Amino acid sequence: MSFFNSIGRSMSRNPRAQKRSPTPTSATFPDMPPPPVPPSPASPVPSKPLYLCSPFVEAALVKGNFKTIVVLPKYVDIMEWVAVNVFDFYTNLNEFYGAISECCTQHSCPTMSAGPNLSYTWVNQDRKSVNLAAPTYIDYVMTWVQNLLDDENVFPTKSGHDFPQSFPSTIKHVYRQLLRVFAHIYHAHYPQILHLRSEPHFNSLFAHFLAFGREYELLDIRDVKGATNASVGVGLLWDKWREMGILEG
Ligand SMILES: [Zn+2]
Repeated sequence: MSFFNSIGRSMSRNPRAQKRSPTPTSATFPDMPPPPVPPSPASPVPSKPLYLCSPFVEAALVKGNFKTIVVLPKYVDIMEWVAVNVFDFYTNLNEFYGAISECCTQHSCPTMSAGPNLSYTWVNQDRKSVNLAAPTYIDYVMTWVQNLLDDENVFPTKSGHDFPQSFPSTIKHVYRQLLRVFAHIYHAHYPQILHLRSEPHFNSLFAHFLAFGREYELLDIRDVKGATNASVGVGLLWDKWREMGILEG
């Protein structure tokens, strides 16, 4: 089963906007929030994000390599396995975002940023890339994914209903967007995750998400590490976790 199909119908489904209006802006990145300051008082500029610092980078609920928990169990259909895992990733991520969402506002996060030089754009119904404030962008993603999950034609739950042919490409799009939500939270809201003492849970959720995405070819490595050699926040986390043996190459 190839997950590298061309763009499927998923991108033609426009997510239902919530009542906020989208606010496309120019391609500049104004008012970027400053990166979190690491604990060391004498740290050089630019400072290293907290999530890359010890002990936070090692914090985890699950010890060891994630490969073992992503492999397809015997007798389980691969589509079912991917569907149920994506459902869980979405549900957990949505809960985390819900817990920190009051800190993610049009003012604090005017762009969907995931690093000092990285902002994601949203492709609208006219196939144009637009900049959205992070809370708007994330609303769009979460509403879109929720609608897909609720759609019996996309995520069949009744026996006798098959997964559509477009399922792999739909899932790849879902995965890409969920990755961006993770990346934004790591970049912009890690202090709140720490404040909730949720970093072991959040790290384990993200490591599981990355390991699963690699196992089933749902992730494009460029989405994790950026298109160029520029250091992208969660790309550095990926590298670190590979060094630590949490993730495979
Ligand atoms: Zn935010």
